[in-house]
Amino acid sequence: MKKVIVTGGSGFIGTNLVNYLIKKNLYVINLDKLTYSSNTYYKRNEKNYKFYKVDINNQKKILNIIKTNKPIAIFNLAAETHVDRSIDSPKKFVYSNIVGVFNILEILRKTKNRNIKLIHVSTDEVYGDIIKKNYRSDENYPYRPSSPYSASKASADHLIRSYIRTYKLKAMISNCCNNYGPYQFPEKLIPKIILNIFNNRPLPIYAKGQNSREWIYVKDHCEAIYKIFLKGKIGESYNVGSGKNLKNIDLVKIILKICKNKNIYLGSKVKIKFVKDRPGHDLRYALNSKKIKKKLNWKNKTHIIEGLSETIKWYVNNRKFLSSISKKNYDKRLGLKI
Ligand code: NAD
Repeated sequence: MKKVIVTGGSGFIGTNLVNYLIKKNLYVINLDKLTYSSNTYYKRNEKNYKFYKVDINNQKKILNIIKTNKPIAIFNLAAETHVDRSIDSPKKFVYSNIVGVFNILEILRKTKNRNIKLIHVSTDEVYGDIIKKNYRSDENYPYRPSSPYSASKASADHLIRSYIRTYKLKAMISNCCNNYGPYQFPEKLIPKIILNIFNNRPLPIYAKGQNSREWIYVKDHCEAIYKIFLKGKIGESYNVGSGKNLKNIDLVKIILKICKNKNIYLGSKVKIKFVKDRPGHDLRYALNSKKIKKKLNWKNKTHIIEGLSETIKWYVNNRKFLSSISKKNYDKRLGLKI
């Protein structure tokens, strides 16, 4: 059985990607340092799975893991991921998202096996605000990150490109839009809204809810990552988007409607509440994903209503996932310390 490493395999996308890769008959080695956003709810017992609690900055340990296991690829998802936290504490983002990636690149440079593929999972936020109406950024669009989070992701992408060019590392990058689905930590918009509906609490929306994001069901993203691993061209970047943009206010209204249709109780306090905007908040991200569709034959399969219905159903059936997370890790408004 071929072995692959997934870093950050205990996070939201990581958990879904590990499930996906295990089903593809790969032996998955998950390297995760288990931060506040890691999912410890799902206890794995698959035979083709191994876990190491390790920081991606621990070069010695990871070099040993590579030497012992001889993986054919590394999927790098380990990162600090919440923009609001990056506003309050940018240092952690530089440490994991830039220095951590540098470390993985150095590990790959030092291993004798230059055939290990690196699939690095990046974000649409590196392109910054896409203000022009109906315009969507393609892979050649300039990087103009606005938050410490997106700047750390952009820096990592640049470092990777330099290692591809200079050291001929076999790396590829995916730049994906906003994901939603099972196992997402409830500080992010969609699980936060679902959690607050369950708990009869107001639904906080930044400013007037006019910020527009492109939404993809996490399983479609996992399939794109897998296709990049199988058929992607070394050195290339691929945008991964659903093509479906929604303003935050409209997204929350859709979630409310789905909950109503599912007969989920909506308490008297479940009402949209506009709260102070995020400093530096980008108004719109939107990806042009023609390249991955044309070159790798990937397409987005899940309609937003179907994906949201599945997601809500998952949270209803897995309320213990939410109760397993300490409230202090998601309850407080962050990102206003400027
Ligand atoms: P997440 O916060 O749910 O999970 C991140 C995981 O990485 C956690 O388990 C954490 O413990 C681990 N981690 C963090 N720093 C680490 C370190 N130094 N060493 C080892 N492990 C570490 O995040 P997610 O939403 O699953 O995002 C995964 C990746 O996908 C990130 O790189 C993120 O930038 C990227 N991405 C996310 C989205 C999205 O909408 N969620 C969209 C595009 C790209």
